[in-house]
Amino acid sequence: MALIVQKYGGTSVGTTERIEAVARKIKGYVERGDQVVAVVSAMSGETNRLLTLASEITNAQSSRELDVLLTTGEQVTIALLSMALHHAGLKARSYTGGQVRILTDSEHSKARIRDIDDQHVRADLDSGHVVVVAGFQGVDEQGNITTLGRGGSDTTAVAMAAALRADECQIFTDVDGVYTTDPRVEPKARKLDRITFEEMLEMASLGSKVLQIRSVEFAGKYNVPLRVLSSFEEGGSGTLITFEDDSVEQAKISGIAFNRDEAKLLIKGVPDQPGVAHHIVGPVAAANIEVDMIIQNIAQDGTTDFTFTVHRNDYEKALRILEKTAKELGAAEVVGDDKIVKLSLVGVGMRSHAGIASTMFETLANENINIRMISTSEIKVSVVIDEKYLELGVRALHEAFQLDAEPKRV
Ligand code: ASP
Ligand code: MG
Repeated sequence: MALIVQKYGGTSVGTTERIEAVARKIKGYVERGDQVVAVVSAMSGETNRLLTLASEITNAQSSRELDVLLTTGEQVTIALLSMALHHAGLKARSYTGGQVRILTDSEHSKARIRDIDDQHVRADLDSGHVVVVAGFQGVDEQGNITTLGRGGSDTTAVAMAAALRADECQIFTDVDGVYTTDPRVEPKARKLDRITFEEMLEMASLGSKVLQIRSVEFAGKYNVPLRVLSSFEEGGSGTLITFEDDSVEQAKISGIAFNRDEAKLLIKGVPDQPGVAHHIVGPVAAANIEVDMIIQNIAQDGTTDFTFTVHRNDYEKALRILEKTAKELGAAEVVGDDKIVKLSLVGVGMRSHAGIASTMFETLANENINIRMISTSEIKVSVVIDEKYLELGVRALHEAFQLDAEPKRV
């Protein structure tokens, strides 16, 4: 008998038929003797529909009221799933985040969980109930309803699993696991049996949007075994996200992540003096724009060129800020490009293997793909290339690193 927290995302509960299918799936676990806590998202499209309703009234919504509105999506699902479980002959009880008492801070729309009271949930589990919990929501100290940020149900599930010391947290979604890269770009992409938390964080933050990043951080911190599985297929074992250990596949590279939402800004001919980098990045950061890669080159004439990347949504705003900075600094010109992408090789095996970067650069060169920027970290090598080469680049690298083949076990 195991205690399992399962999370079912929007598409898995997108219709009443699917909700009934989820109930049948849960019944299978209960009949095996497991205790199940099911954390659910709003039915697919519902959160966006609610956001649209709000924007029809005003674009200056109170974040408190927006949270009250958005949490209704998940509340619908917990009631329907509990009914479906009853109909399937099981005992089940639904809980909103506030009813469990998932205590958060008061940062509406991006609240962080502080504490979970597991008392009611445990009592229900012990009396043979399936406990159905609304994802993505909590309450603050004053009882205000809060939400955890888009995709936050993953975090609710992991946090519940940590609080209950569950044996496993299973994220049921519309894919059957984590792949070496996006199968829509490279059909030869292979499902990974295991991946480390660190690698998953890189894959997630680089755009493989299988799990909300915060949920992976949380699972790593509290040592919650996390598994990604398909809710539409029977019998698969998905991908287990674990700590690095010696039995983990000894591949140099686990996967190729990419991010299409990138834009690059270049400020040219800045006088090369102390404080210049701060003068350039400061106003961008102050405008709440996340800066990713940064490169500074010194020219012969004592000036410097400064390049950085931002999310494409922030491109226009960053460009305007930079044009202002350029005037202040007497820079020669500002050039922007929002047709770029970032492509990254990710793997914990990389630490002990030299030459990954050189194979990567050679592979891209052979395809005539120009590398615009490069950055590295302990477990990844990233390049910025022109958007039009994304697919070609991913496929060439997938081939070069033989990611379609099962890695050898050591
Ligand atoms: N319903 C919320 C969203 O769409 C939370 C979630 O699904 O995880 O972002
Ligand atoms: Mg999701």
